[in-house]
Amino acid sequence: MNVINLHEPVWKGLQARRAQMPHALLLLGQRGLGKFDLARQFAASLLCEQPQGDGRACGHCLACNWYGQGNHPDFRLLQPEAFADEAEAEEGKKKASQQITIDQVRGLDEFLNVGTHRGGLRIVIVNPTEAMNRATANALLKTLEEPAPSTLFLMVSSDPIRLLPTIRSRCQVVPVPLPSAARAEQVLAEHGVADAGRWLALAGGAPGLALEWSASGQSDWLEALTRRLAAGRAVEPLVLAGELEKAVKDSKGRLPLKAVVDGLQKWLVDLMLASNGLAVRYFLPQAATIAGLAAMIPPARLLQSYRTTVARRREAEQPLNARLFLEGLFLDYRALFAKDSR
Ligand SMILES: [Zn+2]
Repeated sequence: MNVINLHEPVWKGLQARRAQMPHALLLLGQRGLGKFDLARQFAASLLCEQPQGDGRACGHCLACNWYGQGNHPDFRLLQPEAFADEAEAEEGKKKASQQITIDQVRGLDEFLNVGTHRGGLRIVIVNPTEAMNRATANALLKTLEEPAPSTLFLMVSSDPIRLLPTIRSRCQVVPVPLPSAARAEQVLAEHGVADAGRWLALAGGAPGLALEWSASGQSDWLEALTRRLAAGRAVEPLVLAGELEKAVKDSKGRLPLKAVVDGLQKWLVDLMLASNGLAVRYFLPQAATIAGLAAMIPPARLLQSYRTTVARRREAEQPLNARLFLEGLFLDYRALFAKDSR
């Protein structure tokens, strides 16, 4: 996504800081805005040896080449292992951590204690900043309190409530607001997204999320799914299964059954987040509804249902009968709201 055009005011603000760079910047905003991409572009811009007029990296100097290949000696990316290869982690081939580990933070020591290779800045991106437990965050805090010279930490977060206040107070906050609808639609259109306005509405205005959703090519099924799941106990599993089976059939392969299971899985993730008092990740416009539903479901039942759905995602590759498969999925969803405890 062209995040520089998307967030032009934020980009200009970042460029204006070049002359007097603080030790740590915290890019803060809701999920799906492209904050991580923005941080990467800014890091590239700072490392580039011949940045363009608007500050963009040139893309062909030595520094840009290194950065593009992921081996610039003055750059480090701190992110959970699971982010590095999401597909592999999901298949359970290895138990990749969903958290940034304390060893990763300690691993920065050497990097921070030698001089910079190109005589410019040394940059560390931390994404997402909330993916650290207290011990790890405290280890990072030590580094932030006694910053090595010419070092910039670019921290990214969508969930400021989960950040240690001490971490937050060491950073200069850069708010990343929702871009205007017109700008977001224009950037999505450049990415070949037809009907960008509709996808944006589904994604609560977040263009990154709209791009992700639009990969399935159709929004009708997603609207039907969210509308019906939002009914909670009053969901009509058989009707919903019928609608979605038709959508899958009519899509002629563009909407795989797996994508429908994905949609339900994301809805369950949001229910679990809401159940823990956290912000939803996917269904932003339905956040209030989801919080209301989550309050009606025993947390243990919710977790069990999520695990079952993950297992079913594999079945969805080759179900014997798509209709029965979907009916089973949504009957289970309705059972979440059953009054009797089982
Ligand atoms: Zn360059």
